[in-house]
Amino acid sequence: MSGPQLILVVEDEASIASFVSLYLKNAGYDVRAVPTGGAALNQVAAELPSLIILDLNLPDMDGIEICRRIRKSSDVPILMLTARDEDVDKIIGLEVGADDYLTKPFNPRELVARVKSVLRRSAPERRRDESREIRHGDLVINAGRREVFVGEDEIQLAPKEFDLLWELLDHRGLVLTRDQLLERVWGYTFAGDTRTVDVHVRQIRRKLGDASPIVTVWGVGYKVASERSSPAPAA
Ligand code: CA
Repeated sequence: MSGPQLILVVEDEASIASFVSLYLKNAGYDVRAVPTGGAALNQVAAELPSLIILDLNLPDMDGIEICRRIRKSSDVPILMLTARDEDVDKIIGLEVGADDYLTKPFNPRELVARVKSVLRRSAPERRRDESREIRHGDLVINAGRREVFVGEDEIQLAPKEFDLLWELLDHRGLVLTRDQLLERVWGYTFAGDTRTVDVHVRQIRRKLGDASPIVTVWGVGYKVASERSSPAPAA
């Protein structure tokens, strides 16, 4: 990619939009700021930003609805801003597909750090396992096409759900702690909010049902058993 990456800031509070924009510009990004969901959707279609910072509460449209609409056509990383802690389960728990979130008020330096780590995670050179496929019982996961199948059925996972499942499958037999998973999947280099990991695991289990290979290791983290001994009995 040539030139600075474009970041779209969707925020109706002018003071927040302007300081976020300032910090991002100082970090070397191009920034567009828009105050409404409608303008955001137009901007996404017109300019293909590298990342979107999306306020949850906008005057014309819910941030979650905007996120869903963007996800229909794009995998662009989305970092959500929320005013309340209780919204977190909603943001990362539903099939919204946000990549990360920050609760207001936040430190702008942390915002920039999160933006960098989300972009690092989604950069093309990180797709190191292009053609790799992992099979585990009925579960088949393809890194290059980012597809997950259980038998014949394709399962739609949000981007971070996919990355988390891949990380655990790629380390079959090893226990990964929540902090290790945060670092590997979300790119945090500090101890972050490990609830993010738990919520994503819950979603993966819900979507995969009996085919979910993830085992909780109490007090430690999660793992995938090295091999599934026998297929689940037919119901
Ligand atoms: Ca707002």
